[in-house]
Amino acid sequence: MSRTGIGIDSHAFADGRRLVLGGIEVPSARGLVGHSDADVLTHAIVDALLGAAGLGDIGQHFPDTDPAFEDADSLDLLRAVLSDLEHAGLRATHVDATVMMERPKLSPHRDAIRARLAGVLGLEIDRMNLKATTGEGMGFVGRGEGVAALAVATLEPRT
Ligand code: MG
Repeated sequence: MSRTGIGIDSHAFADGRRLVLGGIEVPSARGLVGHSDADVLTHAIVDALLGAAGLGDIGQHFPDTDPAFEDADSLDLLRAVLSDLEHAGLRATHVDATVMMERPKLSPHRDAIRARLAGVLGLEIDRMNLKATTGEGMGFVGRGEGVAALAVATLEPRT
């Protein structure tokens, strides 16, 4: 039987930080603040995978009070969760995600981000979908204060 999980995350913009989305550094005047690399998209995907597996959330697995995860590459957190899924007899078969960001435009980087995430997840590219939208000037996304990401993951038993 398949299992589905959702994940949502947000991080604030600040000067002097990098903007990392799905493991790809996107050129931007400002980046995202966080204990790790603040890869909001990868964090949402990690939470979706954990949710589908019934394994809690990213904060339980990688506490932001733990110095081990300071400036962590979030793709390494994703790899660790995929290993947990394997031990639980599960594998990811599909991920759909949306990044909500006013600027910069995500579209020039979408294919690279998709390919990077699909590679880590071990998915065909058409099973790692990535969408982008803005906040239409409304809320923290619309005012350019930060970025939000949403993800849905589907898992199947390993056969
Ligand atoms: Mg986060």
